Amino acid sequence: MSGKIIDGKTIATDLRAQVDEGVRQLVSAGGQAPGLATVLVGDNPASEMYVRTKRKQCAEVGIDSFAHELPADSSQELVEVLVEQLNADPKVHGILVQLPLPDGLDEEAILAKINLTKDVDGFHPINIGRLAQKGRDPEFIPATPMGCITLLKHAGADLDGANAVVLGRSNIVGMPAALLLVRENATVTVCHSHTQDLPAVCRAADVLIVAIGRAEMVRGDWIKPGAYVIDVGINRVDDASRKRGYRLVGDVAFDEAIEVAEAVTPVPGGVGPMTIATLLQNTLTAAERAS
Ligand code: NAP
Repeated sequence: MSGKIIDGKTIATDLRAQVDEGVRQLVSAGGQAPGLATVLVGDNPASEMYVRTKRKQCAEVGIDSFAHELPADSSQELVEVLVEQLNADPKVHGILVQLPLPDGLDEEAILAKINLTKDVDGFHPINIGRLAQKGRDPEFIPATPMGCITLLKHAGADLDGANAVVLGRSNIVGMPAALLLVRENATVTVCHSHTQDLPAVCRAADVLIVAIGRAEMVRGDWIKPGAYVIDVGINRVDDASRKRGYRLVGDVAFDEAIEVAEAVTPVPGGVGPMTIATLLQNTLTAAERAS
């Protein structure tokens, strides 16, 4: 093994400790404890698990969380009314609508209802628009892409002038990750399912962020020697040797990538923990601004 493992778990633990300290200071200065409202529509098991983990970690750093669960057949109006109630609730500093929403709900309209100052996920169209514009700053930056940039900086990647490739163009990961890399003065190529000769495009990358949801698709020979590789993917693959019958792997073949790259994030233990820690940090920021 020649490359370094980027230890997202440890970096996230440090970030959570900073949030914990920030919450303590806010409260001891007479401010209100930060509050995060979670909105879960339907019973998608992965979404339920993500919301549970987020709430547990909120509790660990002194952030109050308020869970709202609605049935999968909820009307657009019901979800929007809930968001408006949360906008008006002074105990709530951040609102997280867990995505994806069930079919039939207009995600864009629901996200657009969130008060900009409570949009701790950073998915409000105005926040994303500001992220894309030079000289403008969003209220909040989406947690997963922000976590990727934090990990790259911790690993020592020099983003200024780097040739960066983002594999995936989703609203929640790929596209905001690309916008953040542009803000870091990288030269960015965004790839997707229509990109021709993906391996060759990836091989030109000094920095590669992969978010496609395809188990171990990126192989070692797609990676430029000395590159920094951030693997956002979380995929289940069957594994009879595990009690639960599966294991989690990323979008990158880790064992091959680590032989070539300067540094790679593992799955699990890379981007995942950073996503939640960054969300907690955004919630603390929202509460600090409110006080
Ligand atoms: P998504 O919305 O499904 O988007 C996937 C993107 O990958 C799309 O842009 C798609 O291209 C592209 N793509 C899919 N197959 C491809 C292929 N064979 N070749 C080239 N491009 C391909 O996924 P997402 O929400 O961004 O999530 C991506 C992965 O990250 C998933 O495994 C998800 O579980 C994981 N994730 C992890 C975290 C975390 O905290 N660690 C957070 C969010 C997501 P088109 O646009 O052309 O369809």
